[in-house]
Amino acid sequence: SEPTLHDPNRKIRAARGNQRTAKSWGAEAAKRMLMNNLDPEVAEHPEDLVVYGGTGKAARSWEAYDAIVRTLDELEPDETLLVQSGKPVGVFRTHEWAPRVLIANSNLVGDWATWPEFRRLEALGLMMYGQMTAGSWIYIGTQGILQGTYETFAAVARSLGRESLKGTLTLTGGAGGMGGAQPLAVTLNEGAVLIVDVDESRLARRVDHGYLDEYTADLDAAIDRVVAAKQNGEALSVGVVGNAAEVFPELLRRGVPIDIVTDQTSAHDPLAYLPVGVSVDEWKAEAARDPEGFTERSRESMAAHVSAMVAFQDGGAAVFDYGNSIRAEAKLGGCDRAFEFPGFVPAYIRPQFEEGRGPFRWAALSGDPEDIYATDRAIAELFPEDKALHRWLEKAGESVHFEGLPARICWLGYQERHLAGLKFNEMVASGELKAPIVIGRDHLDAGSVASPYRETEAMRDGSDAIADWPLLNALLNTASGASWVSLHHGGGVGIGRSIHAGQVTVADGSELAAQKLERVLTNDPGTGVMRHVDAGYEHAQDVARERGLNIPML
Ligand code: NAD
Repeated sequence: SEPTLHDPNRKIRAARGNQRTAKSWGAEAAKRMLMNNLDPEVAEHPEDLVVYGGTGKAARSWEAYDAIVRTLDELEPDETLLVQSGKPVGVFRTHEWAPRVLIANSNLVGDWATWPEFRRLEALGLMMYGQMTAGSWIYIGTQGILQGTYETFAAVARSLGRESLKGTLTLTGGAGGMGGAQPLAVTLNEGAVLIVDVDESRLARRVDHGYLDEYTADLDAAIDRVVAAKQNGEALSVGVVGNAAEVFPELLRRGVPIDIVTDQTSAHDPLAYLPVGVSVDEWKAEAARDPEGFTERSRESMAAHVSAMVAFQDGGAAVFDYGNSIRAEAKLGGCDRAFEFPGFVPAYIRPQFEEGRGPFRWAALSGDPEDIYATDRAIAELFPEDKALHRWLEKAGESVHFEGLPARICWLGYQERHLAGLKFNEMVASGELKAPIVIGRDHLDAGSVASPYRETEAMRDGSDAIADWPLLNALLNTASGASWVSLHHGGGVGIGRSIHAGQVTVADGSELAAQKLERVLTNDPGTGVMRHVDAGYEHAQDVARERGLNIPML
């Protein structure tokens, strides 16, 4: 791989406040959010430029990182920087409405879109894996996923005919950057949960950050704790150190009364899933020594892991794939029944996508948590009728520990997001907020992704794999005035399995920002409604008619 001059003690932290060194807030915000992605409080492995999701990186190398930062500081307000898989490759004269940065990460031509080919190119220093918000500089730590996970578990409770998860026990795996949101999401829904991770340091980190109540290496003790919590209707999260491919079958064998089963180990990348028989310490070296052999072993372990999940379903538990491609990998590992349980999107999320609802998020460049609390109040006032939103804002205000720049996430839909953006821009203009706000979203959104094992699984018209939609989404956001736009391949579910786009737009309090925000934050979720109208979803068609979305052939 590329030589690096990186000093392992280097710590990245974004500047705070309303003084900028870049020539526009668009460039300053992109720079701060890149740095924020690599803040040790935010990134899982900042020394390797890895933000989250296995190997999702913010920049290709430390040299590329330094060059991006330097270029953003020099960038004129009518110029656009192009980033190719984490490396700054060109600056072009555009205009003020154009994005300051355009990013393409990990894209490969169809027949070449495989992990071995990707890794070959990565080893040559030609590519990096951008995941979703890692390479597009809008990862905000575990909170980013917390709200979506909270909503998913709330939907699971409803599907079981319950008001909350009180009195239920959930089993899951993977306490990493995203998966680490699961224990808190379950306890916020009043349930008990056991979470398995091979890496003790990940469980310890979740306890430190208040996402997990406790952990142990003693499986018996863990089982006793969570079963008692289930019986007492107590909200409790317990981590257990172990390999999910061994612990899941063991829990099944012992007949532990588990109601809900899912998993968020990094199964999308077989090298980021630890096979049985390899220790955490040997992990990196073993994977590097023989990636093909390691892949085979990890798929075999995933087959054991998923077979146990299928058996829990046979026994009456609610079981779902939580967007990590584990069914597909387990199938390759020999588990023929892997696809007998559904993905979480068709099971719980799609009705929201039909309204263009998805993970809207923002971060305060001031660095002051009070700015986020002020935006929380503004959102609550803007949407007085939305009870679930109010409950979330209240719980988030109490229990979310900010990582890096203070940030917030909530799900808003078409004809809602722009109201929030305009309000925040006014608050920046009036001085109510101390510095600009950056407004973005996950690539996991209503109109921005093609991912047949996740967001577009089981589309009504069979259009799961059509990737024209995220390309149109990125082009439209570029045309609408976003501050930076990204187009990635392989995020969430791995190379060859998804194409997706992101946008981030800055509220700097200017009139120009208001015009851009109104267009971007209307059009971006509008593509979500459009995509579901086209696929034949009646609710999306009603939303389009009621809210005046112009769909020529509806
Ligand atoms: P991560 O790499 O930060 O964490 C993965 C964790 O899994 C690590 O802590 C690792 O130690 C653990 N692990 C690996 N193999 C294991 C095994 N055999 N047994 C037990 N633990 C094991 O990744 P992340 O950011 O938390 O993402 C996890 C997965 O979820 C990825 O596949 C990602 O693409 C997917 N994801 C899903 C969503 C969603 O909305 N559903 C969103 C983002 C990411």
